[in-house]
Amino acid sequence: MRLGDYIDDYCTRCKRTTDHAVVSMMKDDVLVTRCRTCDFEHKYKHNKGSKEMTKQQAFDKVLASVMGQQAATPEAKPKKRKKS
Ligand SMILES: [Zn+2]
Repeated sequence: MRLGDYIDDYCTRCKRTTDHAVVSMMKDDVLVTRCRTCDFEHKYKHNKGSKEMTKQQAFDKVLASVMGQQAATPEAKPKKRKKS
């Protein structure tokens, strides 16, 4: 990520996730972005505040769901032992 790069972020003016340009950075962290739709500059919100999910967030959610199901399912079901 570099200055001027495009990044998805939540714009409070547009009230939705839009394309933003990176305006200010601290090391590898994006600090300020500018909405490419309305030119509103604001602190980078890490795309939070949006009800829309990014592909990565959607993927993580699906992954977590799958992992949770796997964790909830015993790997080997104990076999019922008949009393002899
Ligand atoms: Zn905007």
